[in-house]
Amino acid sequence: PRRIGVLTSGGDAPGMNPAVRAVVRVSIARGCVPFAIYDGYQGLVDGGRKIRQMEWKDVHSFLPSGGTNIGTARCMAFKERAGRLQAAQNLIERGIDALVVIGGDGSLTGADVFRAEWPGLVDELVQQKRIASELAQRYRHLTIVGLVGSIDNDMASTDMTIGAVSSLHRICESVDAISSTAISHSRAFVIEVMGRHCGWLALMAGICTGADWLFIPERPPVDGEWQDRMCETLRQHREMGKRKSIIIISEGAIDSDLRPIKPDDIKDLLCQRLNLDTRVTLLGHVQRGGSPCAYDRFLATVQGVEAVEAVLRANPDTPSPMIGTRENRITCEPLMAAVELTHKVSKSIAKKDFQAAMELRSPDFAD
Ligand code: ATP
Repeated sequence: PRRIGVLTSGGDAPGMNPAVRAVVRVSIARGCVPFAIYDGYQGLVDGGRKIRQMEWKDVHSFLPSGGTNIGTARCMAFKERAGRLQAAQNLIERGIDALVVIGGDGSLTGADVFRAEWPGLVDELVQQKRIASELAQRYRHLTIVGLVGSIDNDMASTDMTIGAVSSLHRICESVDAISSTAISHSRAFVIEVMGRHCGWLALMAGICTGADWLFIPERPPVDGEWQDRMCETLRQHREMGKRKSIIIISEGAIDSDLRPIKPDDIKDLLCQRLNLDTRVTLLGHVQRGGSPCAYDRFLATVQGVEAVEAVLRANPDTPSPMIGTRENRITCEPLMAAVELTHKVSKSIAKKDFQAAMELRSPDFAD
């Protein structure tokens, strides 16, 4: 039977636990042996008790639980070949020949690097007499499958990443809560949300809460103009009787010269020009915490099922797949193509080609 390891890596995201649960249980149902690798690639490098065989009951209660119960980490050692060599040894010693990696683009890049070095790593372990050559013969191929766990929804080639919708719910709840106090005191609030270089969370939160103005990295406002336009819009809203002003700013927001736009700059502007009592709220890690919403439980479960099926279908000549979703259908596309497309988005932003960035990442949202 295939022996399948599953790990979560990079920033945690609600829905990682349901994904692990699905991988473990479908592995068992399909006659495979699942292993949890604790603390992401760190567990792969450390081995020992960080690689544990999983039983059906071990993922009991994973569906509603937030974060990742098998831990995550940023692992410098895995970025070095020596670390990956140790990881390969630990996998072979446990007889694991397939890995399901749940993480962001960094984690999936790491997975691809690892597979590209295989079976060179295996040969090196034999040369260094760290594993027996008979054992090496059985582990000529490593199967890798990627699942995208990220609240940012920043991966190209998939409409939705695991965790993004839960995070959006949390942001909306927070903005609603802030709105009631804003109305009471007739205040303005500048609310910073996560997303790194992707404005999806800010854009969706703006739509879902009816924000007065928002800033996203993919649509930088023209410096010297946006200040007037924003103040004029907010002034009109106030004239119409609105007692609150909500500005949502993505943490990666930039102006058209690629300079970061900071919440405090907006606050100062609103205080000075509109005389609005303005507060800044950085939502921070509350956006990452808590139970996954129904959609993320569903997405993680169906993608987790597909990840195991992809392991069973894989052959040594096909590139490692990434499980995604497009137009409500689960997809299975080459992982590195998706990662490269995601990097192209960053490059387009750096070249100030914002339209291209939007279209590459998510054609449906580009307009
Ligand atoms: P998030 O979107 O939350 O940042 P991520 O998966 O992109 O998630 P990273 O910190 O970029 O997070 O990557 C997680 C881990 O993946 C790194 O700590 C490292 O162990 C591994 N990794 C990333 N890039 C590489 C690489 N080029 N080669 C080998 N390993 C890598």
